[in-house]
Amino acid sequence: MLQDLEYGRLENEFRNILPAEEDIVVCFRGSSALLDRNDQDELHLPSYGEVLAWAEANHWESWNGNKVQYVFRMQDKNYFIWWGEAGESADPAYAYEDTRMLRQLVSKNICYAIMTAWHLFDWYRSNRFCGRCGAKTQHDAKERMMRCPQCNQMIFPKIAPSVIVGVTHGDYLLLSKYANRSYTRYGMIAGFTEIGETVEETVAREVMEEVGLKVKNIRYYKTQPWGVTGGLLLGYYCDLDGEDDTITLDREELAMAEWFPRNDLPAHDDGISLTREMIRVFEEGKEPQ
Ligand SMILES: [Zn+2]
Repeated sequence: MLQDLEYGRLENEFRNILPAEEDIVVCFRGSSALLDRNDQDELHLPSYGEVLAWAEANHWESWNGNKVQYVFRMQDKNYFIWWGEAGESADPAYAYEDTRMLRQLVSKNICYAIMTAWHLFDWYRSNRFCGRCGAKTQHDAKERMMRCPQCNQMIFPKIAPSVIVGVTHGDYLLLSKYANRSYTRYGMIAGFTEIGETVEETVAREVMEEVGLKVKNIRYYKTQPWGVTGGLLLGYYCDLDGEDDTITLDREELAMAEWFPRNDLPAHDDGISLTREMIRVFEEGKEPQ
């Protein structure tokens, strides 16, 4: 999966540090990130030195005096985000690309870094003011938290749990396609956890809502952080409850849903998504029982 980095883990612990010239800065404008994609599809992000020069030349705005904010460390490099909506670069190799469409294996680590930086950027920009009293918030010095100096509200990063569900019926797996989305490949039933419900209840509810099937034997597989939706995906398998496998499609959510046999699945592991890994694991008959 995208987060399985060959050199280890993303060092996500908060550190209160200032940038050095060679540190990486991920710059966002709307939902797009500024990057250099070469002919081999490799992604490259600019250094603090480069970004500072572009910001000065092209009058980039920032939310306050701090121009950048430390986010994490990866592969012996410190990553920061531009603290505001970024402007034009002065280097024609760099262009803005939609973070939500970004998923690839060539620069898997950079791709994961951009998606995670986006999750934080989106949270920071939505919490520049206190939602309780309206005052300007300040970054805490010790942890990743925005604090209101007026009413003392503490605001922590928001992570939304959601499920990916592999519904099985003997040697068959249920695959579906979204309706009205730019992502048109095969997927599985998915949805966000609602307030006041357990994740197992989310699994049963989403399957009932989207395809009208009752399920049992709900069992956990793995998780995947998915920064572009601010989510944490929790992968579960479950079995059809009973023998009636008739699908009643929610046409607002799905374009199609169909049972596929274990030896003839139309989608394969792409090394990126939890959904695809779960399809492969089912194909190999290795799903938890
Ligand atoms: Zn406040």
